[in-house]
Amino acid sequence: MNEEYVDLRSDTVTKPTPEMREAMAEAEVGDDVYMDDSTVNELQEKAAKMLGKEDSLFVPSGTMGNLIALMVHCQRGDEVILGNKSHIYLNEAGGMSALGGIQPHPVPNQKDGTLALDDIRASIQSEDVHHTITKLICLENTQNVCGGVPLTVEYTNQVGEIAKENNLALHIDGARIFNAATALNVDVKDLVKPADSVMFCLSKGLVSPIGSMLVGTEKFINRARHLRKMLGGGMRQVGVIASAGLISLEKMTKRLSQDHARAKKMYDGLKQVAGLVLEAEPKSNMLYFAIHPKIRLSDNQIIEEIKKYGVLVDWAASRRFRLVTHYWVDEAGVEKTIEAIKNVLK
Ligand SMILES: *Cc1c(COP(=O)(O)O)cnc(C)c1O
Repeated sequence: MNEEYVDLRSDTVTKPTPEMREAMAEAEVGDDVYMDDSTVNELQEKAAKMLGKEDSLFVPSGTMGNLIALMVHCQRGDEVILGNKSHIYLNEAGGMSALGGIQPHPVPNQKDGTLALDDIRASIQSEDVHHTITKLICLENTQNVCGGVPLTVEYTNQVGEIAKENNLALHIDGARIFNAATALNVDVKDLVKPADSVMFCLSKGLVSPIGSMLVGTEKFINRARHLRKMLGGGMRQVGVIASAGLISLEKMTKRLSQDHARAKKMYDGLKQVAGLVLEAEPKSNMLYFAIHPKIRLSDNQIIEEIKKYGVLVDWAASRRFRLVTHYWVDEAGVEKTIEAIKNVLK
C-alpha cells in the first residue's frame, strides 16, 4: 500500500527500514540447509538467548512455526488444548489436522485472553481406549482476537504447572510476545519460562519483511529442523532476510511501548466519537471497535469511507473493526485516524 495511507490493518504491513535494507544488502550468507549461513546462525543464537531457551530455528512464517511445533509435540491422532479464538485454531487453514493429523480441543477464550484453568483441566483426556491422547496445551500471547491482550507471567506459570502435572507440553504462540513483555513490563524470558516451545514473529511489530522464530530445547529444535525441511521451509542464502531479523531483535523489541502509547492515544481520541462502540482500552498495539446499529453504512462502506481520508482499517468480524499501530504510524497518523473516523461516522 502506498505511503500516503496510514495503514492500520495490521502490523504485518510494516516495510523494512532503510537500516534493514542496508543490512540485507551487506549480509554474509551461506546455504542455511547446510547450516552454513552465519547471519542465520547469529539470529538463531540471539533469539534463543533472549528467550532463555537452548536453541532456535528461523522459519518462513509464524504459521509454519506453529505447525512444526505442534507436529513435534504430537503424533497423528493426538490432541491439543487451545483457545477457540486462537490463531492456530481459526487462522492457520487447519494445518494441524490437514498436515499433522492432530485433533484440536478448543476451550473458550475468556475476555482477558486466558483459558480458564478449570476448563484446561477438564479438557485433558483420561486414559481410556475411546479417547484421544492429550499431548499439548497452546497459549497465545498477546491474544489477538481478544484485543491484543497480554497473558501474565503468573497465569502462564499456572498453565505450566497444569502441563507439568499432567505430563503435557506447553507451546506459546507468541507472534507478539515482545508486545506482551512490553505491555507487562517484564523480561520476555520470564514470560515463556514454563513453555517447551515458543513461536514469535519478526515480521509484525518487529518490522522485518519476512520470518518467524521457533524456540525451545536443542532436542526440540533438531526435530523441528527436520520437519521444516519436510514442509518445504528449508531455505538457502536466507541471511539476506535474517539480517533484518537481527535489527528486529536488537532494536525493534525496545521501541514497542511507542506503538502501545499510540494505540492508547487513538483510543482516547476515539472515545468522544458518537456511533463508535469501543472495546476495552488497548494494552498493546491493537484496538477494536464496533459500530452503533444506528449507523446505516455497511461494513464495507465504513472501510471505504475511512479509506477516502487516507486511513486503512481492518475488518475483524460483522460490525467489528481493528486498528493496529506499528513502526510506520506516527503521531500525525494517530490524529489523522481519529479525524477520519470522526468524519465518517458523524
Ligand atoms: C500472525 C500470527 C500468526 C502467524 O504468522 P504468519 O507469519 O502470518 O504465518 C500466528 N499467531 C498469531 C497470534 C498471529 O497474529
